[in-house]
Amino acid sequence: MTNDTVLNIQDVTVDFDGFCALLRVNVAVKRNTIHFFIGPNGAGKTTLLDIICAKTKATDGECTFYPENRSPVKLTGMKEYKIVGEGIGRKFQVPSVFVNLSVIENMVLSLKDNKSIWQSIFYRISKEEEKSINEILEAVDLLDKKDEKAGSLAHGQKQWLEIAMQLVQKPEIIMLDEPAAGMGKPETYKTGEILKKIKDQCTIIIVEHDMDFVKQISDCVTVLHEGKVLLEGDCDLVLANKTVQEVYLGR
Ligand code: ADP
Repeated sequence: MTNDTVLNIQDVTVDFDGFCALLRVNVAVKRNTIHFFIGPNGAGKTTLLDIICAKTKATDGECTFYPENRSPVKLTGMKEYKIVGEGIGRKFQVPSVFVNLSVIENMVLSLKDNKSIWQSIFYRISKEEEKSINEILEAVDLLDKKDEKAGSLAHGQKQWLEIAMQLVQKPEIIMLDEPAAGMGKPETYKTGEILKKIKDQCTIIIVEHDMDFVKQISDCVTVLHEGKVLLEGDCDLVLANKTVQEVYLGR
Protein backbone atom coordinates (compact mmCIF):
# COMPACT_ATOMS: atom_id res chain seq x y z
CA MET A 1 0.00 0.00 0.00
CA THR A 2 1.27 3.50 -0.87
CA ASN A 3 0.12 7.10 -0.29
CA ASP A 4 -1.94 7.08 -3.46
CA THR A 5 -3.93 3.98 -2.43
CA VAL A 6 -7.68 4.63 -2.52
CA LEU A 7 -8.78 1.11 -1.65
CA ASN A 8 -6.90 -1.57 0.23
CA ILE A 9 -8.11 -5.15 0.22
CA GLN A 10 -6.12 -6.93 2.85
CA ASP A 11 -5.97 -10.70 3.36
CA VAL A 12 -9.61 -11.14 2.42
CA THR A 13 -11.03 -14.64 2.60
CA VAL A 14 -14.62 -15.55 1.76
CA ASP A 15 -15.88 -18.97 2.71
CA PHE A 16 -19.37 -19.91 1.53
CA ASP A 17 -20.27 -22.83 3.82
CA GLY A 18 -17.01 -24.65 3.21
CA PHE A 19 -16.44 -23.42 -0.36
CA CYS A 20 -13.58 -20.94 -0.48
CA ALA A 21 -14.47 -18.25 -3.07
CA LEU A 22 -11.57 -15.96 -2.07
CA LEU A 23 -8.43 -16.91 -0.18
CA ARG A 24 -6.19 -14.29 1.46
CA VAL A 25 -6.62 -11.78 -1.37
CA ASN A 26 -4.50 -8.62 -1.22
CA VAL A 27 -5.06 -5.80 -3.69
CA ALA A 28 -4.21 -2.09 -3.40
CA VAL A 29 -6.06 0.10 -5.90
CA LYS A 30 -4.46 3.46 -6.72
CA ARG A 31 -6.43 6.70 -6.88
CA ASN A 32 -7.54 7.91 -10.34
CA THR A 33 -6.52 4.75 -12.12
CA ILE A 34 -8.46 2.18 -14.13
CA HIS A 35 -7.97 -1.12 -12.33
CA PHE A 36 -9.23 -4.37 -13.86
CA PHE A 37 -10.10 -7.66 -12.19
CA ILE A 38 -9.90 -10.45 -14.75
CA GLY A 39 -9.97 -14.23 -14.55
CA PRO A 40 -11.94 -17.27 -15.70
CA ASN A 41 -15.54 -17.82 -14.64
CA GLY A 42 -15.73 -18.71 -10.97
CA ALA A 43 -12.38 -17.01 -10.20
CA GLY A 44 -13.97 -14.77 -7.54
CA LYS A 45 -14.25 -11.44 -9.39
CA THR A 46 -17.88 -10.74 -8.50
CA THR A 47 -17.31 -11.86 -4.93
CA LEU A 48 -14.48 -9.33 -4.67
CA LEU A 49 -16.75 -6.51 -5.91
CA ASP A 50 -19.38 -7.73 -3.44
CA ILE A 51 -16.80 -7.45 -0.65
CA ILE A 52 -15.92 -3.85 -1.63
CA CYS A 53 -19.56 -2.79 -1.59
CA ALA A 54 -20.28 -4.78 1.59
CA LYS A 55 -22.85 -7.02 -0.10
CA THR A 56 -20.89 -10.06 1.01
CA LYS A 57 -19.27 -10.40 4.41
CA ALA A 58 -15.61 -11.38 4.50
CA THR A 59 -14.87 -14.47 6.58
CA ASP A 60 -11.49 -12.94 7.31
CA GLY A 61 -9.50 -9.85 6.34
CA GLU A 62 -10.39 -6.22 5.78
CA CYS A 63 -11.25 -3.80 3.03
CA THR A 64 -10.47 -0.14 3.69
CA PHE A 65 -11.41 2.92 1.64
CA TYR A 66 -9.16 6.00 1.81
CA PRO A 67 -11.28 9.02 0.81
CA GLU A 68 -9.37 12.06 -0.41
CA ASN A 69 -10.28 14.48 2.38
CA ARG A 70 -11.60 12.27 5.16
CA SER A 71 -10.40 9.60 7.53
CA PRO A 72 -10.16 6.01 6.24
CA VAL A 73 -13.39 4.03 6.18
CA LYS A 74 -13.50 0.32 6.97
CA LEU A 75 -15.90 -1.17 4.43
CA THR A 76 -15.94 -4.69 5.78
CA GLY A 77 -18.71 -4.87 8.33
CA MET A 78 -20.58 -1.82 7.00
CA LYS A 79 -24.23 -1.93 5.95
CA GLU A 80 -24.47 -2.27 2.16
CA TYR A 81 -26.86 0.70 1.78
CA LYS A 82 -24.30 3.03 3.38
CA ILE A 83 -21.62 2.35 0.78
CA VAL A 84 -23.02 4.75 -1.87
CA GLY A 85 -23.09 7.53 0.72
CA GLU A 86 -19.40 6.90 1.34
CA GLY A 87 -18.65 7.68 -2.31
CA ILE A 88 -18.53 4.24 -3.91
CA GLY A 89 -20.85 3.47 -6.82
CA ARG A 90 -21.51 0.22 -8.65
CA LYS A 91 -22.98 -0.42 -12.07
CA PHE A 92 -24.19 -3.86 -13.03
CA GLN A 93 -23.95 -5.42 -16.48
CA VAL A 94 -27.52 -4.74 -17.66
CA PRO A 95 -28.29 -1.03 -17.98
CA SER A 96 -30.94 0.08 -15.51
CA VAL A 97 -32.10 3.50 -16.63
CA PHE A 98 -35.68 4.79 -16.48
CA VAL A 99 -36.68 4.25 -20.10
CA ASN A 100 -39.76 6.49 -20.00
CA LEU A 101 -37.85 9.46 -18.60
CA SER A 102 -35.56 11.72 -20.58
CA VAL A 103 -31.79 11.61 -20.25
CA ILE A 104 -31.79 14.77 -18.13
CA GLU A 105 -34.61 13.45 -15.90
CA ASN A 106 -32.57 10.30 -15.29
CA MET A 107 -29.63 12.48 -14.29
CA VAL A 108 -31.73 14.60 -11.91
CA LEU A 109 -33.18 11.44 -10.38
CA SER A 110 -29.72 10.14 -9.72
CA LEU A 111 -28.62 13.47 -8.28
CA LYS A 112 -31.57 13.49 -5.91
CA ASP A 113 -31.86 9.78 -5.33
CA ASN A 114 -32.77 10.24 -1.68
CA LYS A 115 -36.04 11.86 -2.75
CA SER A 116 -39.11 10.18 -4.26
CA ILE A 117 -39.35 9.90 -8.05
CA TRP A 118 -41.95 12.69 -8.27
CA GLN A 119 -40.05 15.02 -5.98
CA SER A 120 -36.96 14.37 -8.09
CA ILE A 121 -38.68 15.07 -11.38
CA PHE A 122 -40.10 18.37 -10.20
CA TYR A 123 -37.02 19.32 -8.23
CA ARG A 124 -35.50 22.52 -9.60
CA ILE A 125 -31.81 21.98 -9.99
CA SER A 126 -29.43 24.80 -9.18
CA LYS A 127 -27.34 26.48 -11.88
CA GLU A 128 -24.28 24.74 -10.45
CA GLU A 129 -25.98 21.32 -10.60
CA GLU A 130 -27.11 22.00 -14.16
CA LYS A 131 -23.56 22.92 -15.16
CA SER A 132 -22.20 19.75 -13.58
CA ILE A 133 -24.86 17.58 -15.31
CA ASN A 134 -24.07 19.19 -18.68
CA GLU A 135 -20.35 18.62 -18.24
CA ILE A 136 -20.88 14.97 -17.37
CA LEU A 137 -23.29 14.45 -20.29
CA GLU A 138 -20.74 16.03 -22.57
CA ALA A 139 -18.02 13.67 -21.29
CA VAL A 140 -20.19 10.65 -22.14
CA ASP A 141 -21.25 12.22 -25.45
CA LEU A 142 -24.94 12.47 -24.56
CA LEU A 143 -25.38 16.22 -24.25
CA ASP A 144 -27.26 16.44 -27.55
CA LYS A 145 -29.58 13.62 -26.37
CA LYS A 146 -30.48 15.44 -23.15
CA ASP A 147 -34.22 15.70 -23.87
CA GLU A 148 -34.63 12.32 -25.53
CA LYS A 149 -36.27 9.42 -23.72
CA ALA A 150 -33.65 7.07 -22.29
CA GLY A 151 -35.60 4.20 -23.87
CA SER A 152 -34.82 5.54 -27.34
CA LEU A 153 -31.05 5.42 -26.80
CA ALA A 154 -28.85 2.73 -28.34
CA HIS A 155 -27.57 0.00 -25.99
CA GLY A 156 -24.14 1.65 -25.66
CA GLN A 157 -25.64 5.06 -24.96
CA LYS A 158 -27.77 3.56 -22.17
CA GLN A 159 -24.58 2.17 -20.59
CA TRP A 160 -22.93 5.59 -20.88
CA LEU A 161 -25.99 7.25 -19.35
CA GLU A 162 -25.76 4.89 -16.42
CA ILE A 163 -22.09 5.76 -15.95
CA ALA A 164 -23.08 9.46 -16.11
CA MET A 165 -25.76 8.79 -13.45
CA GLN A 166 -23.06 7.40 -11.20
CA LEU A 167 -20.75 10.34 -11.83
CA VAL A 168 -23.35 12.95 -10.93
CA GLN A 169 -23.24 11.61 -7.37
CA LYS A 170 -19.55 12.54 -7.30
CA PRO A 171 -18.22 9.14 -6.24
CA GLU A 172 -14.54 8.60 -5.50
CA ILE A 173 -14.71 5.03 -6.82
CA ILE A 174 -17.00 3.47 -9.41
CA MET A 175 -17.17 -0.25 -10.02
CA LEU A 176 -18.33 -1.50 -13.40
CA ASP A 177 -19.27 -5.07 -14.25
CA GLU A 178 -18.43 -5.68 -17.93
CA PRO A 179 -19.31 -2.14 -19.09
CA ALA A 180 -18.82 -3.09 -22.74
CA ALA A 181 -21.00 -6.22 -22.64
CA GLY A 182 -23.26 -6.50 -25.68
CA MET A 183 -21.43 -3.74 -27.56
CA GLY A 184 -19.76 -3.92 -30.96
CA LYS A 185 -16.12 -2.93 -31.44
CA PRO A 186 -16.64 0.82 -32.15
CA GLU A 187 -18.94 1.27 -29.13
CA THR A 188 -16.56 -0.73 -26.92
CA TYR A 189 -13.67 1.47 -28.03
CA LYS A 190 -15.70 4.60 -27.36
CA THR A 191 -16.63 3.30 -23.89
CA GLY A 192 -12.91 2.98 -23.21
CA GLU A 193 -12.24 6.53 -24.37
CA ILE A 194 -15.08 7.82 -22.15
CA LEU A 195 -13.67 5.99 -19.12
CA LYS A 196 -10.18 7.37 -19.80
CA LYS A 197 -11.70 10.86 -19.88
CA ILE A 198 -13.41 10.45 -16.50
CA LYS A 199 -10.66 8.74 -14.53
CA ASP A 200 -9.34 12.09 -13.33
CA GLN A 201 -12.68 12.49 -11.51
CA CYS A 202 -12.78 9.06 -9.86
CA THR A 203 -11.07 5.70 -9.59
CA ILE A 204 -12.58 3.06 -11.86
CA ILE A 205 -12.64 -0.65 -10.99
CA ILE A 206 -13.78 -2.97 -13.77
CA VAL A 207 -14.54 -6.67 -14.10
CA GLU A 208 -14.02 -7.58 -17.73
CA HIS A 209 -13.36 -10.42 -20.19
CA ASP A 210 -12.60 -8.42 -23.35
CA MET A 211 -8.80 -8.26 -23.42
CA ASP A 212 -8.69 -5.65 -26.22
CA PHE A 213 -10.69 -3.38 -23.93
CA VAL A 214 -8.37 -4.14 -21.01
CA LYS A 215 -5.38 -3.35 -23.22
CA GLN A 216 -6.92 -0.08 -24.39
CA ILE A 217 -7.44 1.52 -20.99
CA SER A 218 -5.98 -0.43 -18.05
CA ASP A 219 -3.48 1.06 -15.63
CA CYS A 220 -3.35 -2.09 -13.53
CA VAL A 221 -4.72 -5.62 -13.93
CA THR A 222 -5.28 -8.15 -11.16
CA VAL A 223 -5.69 -11.72 -12.40
CA LEU A 224 -7.78 -13.93 -10.14
CA HIS A 225 -7.80 -17.70 -10.39
CA GLU A 226 -9.63 -20.09 -8.07
CA GLY A 227 -10.12 -17.36 -5.50
CA LYS A 228 -6.49 -16.28 -5.37
CA VAL A 229 -4.45 -13.49 -6.94
CA LEU A 230 -2.44 -15.16 -9.68
CA LEU A 231 -0.66 -12.04 -10.87
CA GLU A 232 -0.90 -8.26 -10.83
CA GLY A 233 0.68 -5.61 -13.02
CA ASP A 234 0.26 -3.74 -16.27
CA CYS A 235 -1.52 -5.38 -19.16
CA ASP A 236 1.63 -6.30 -21.11
CA LEU A 237 3.11 -8.07 -18.11
CA VAL A 238 -0.12 -9.99 -17.54
CA LEU A 239 -0.51 -11.00 -21.19
CA ALA A 240 3.11 -12.18 -21.38
CA ASN A 241 2.70 -14.49 -18.38
CA LYS A 242 2.63 -18.19 -19.31
CA THR A 243 0.31 -19.27 -16.49
CA VAL A 244 -2.17 -16.52 -17.37
CA GLN A 245 -2.07 -17.64 -20.99
CA GLU A 246 -2.84 -21.22 -19.92
CA VAL A 247 -5.52 -20.68 -17.29
CA TYR A 248 -7.24 -17.63 -18.66
CA LEU A 249 -6.54 -17.12 -22.31
CA GLY A 250 -6.58 -20.89 -23.02
CA ARG A 251 -3.32 -20.89 -25.03
P1 ADP B 1 -16.59 -14.81 -11.08
O1 ADP B 1 -17.27 -13.49 -10.92
O2 ADP B 1 -15.10 -14.69 -11.22
O3 ADP B 1 -17.16 -15.64 -12.19
P2 ADP B 1 -17.80 -15.43 -8.52
O4 ADP B 1 -17.19 -14.46 -7.59
O5 ADP B 1 -19.17 -15.16 -9.01
O6 ADP B 1 -16.79 -15.69 -9.75
O7 ADP B 1 -17.82 -16.84 -7.84
C1 ADP B 1 -16.67 -17.47 -7.28
C2 ADP B 1 -17.06 -18.84 -6.78
O8 ADP B 1 -17.87 -18.70 -5.63
C3 ADP B 1 -17.89 -19.63 -7.80
O9 ADP B 1 -17.48 -20.97 -7.77
C4 ADP B 1 -19.30 -19.47 -7.31
O10 ADP B 1 -20.10 -20.60 -7.66
C5 ADP B 1 -19.11 -19.36 -5.81
N1 ADP B 1 -20.15 -18.55 -5.17
C6 ADP B 1 -20.43 -17.27 -5.43
N2 ADP B 1 -21.41 -16.82 -4.63
C7 ADP B 1 -21.76 -17.86 -3.82
C8 ADP B 1 -22.70 -18.04 -2.77
N3 ADP B 1 -23.51 -17.04 -2.38
N4 ADP B 1 -22.77 -19.26 -2.18
C9 ADP B 1 -21.95 -20.26 -2.55
N5 ADP B 1 -21.01 -20.17 -3.54
C10 ADP B 1 -20.93 -18.98 -4.17
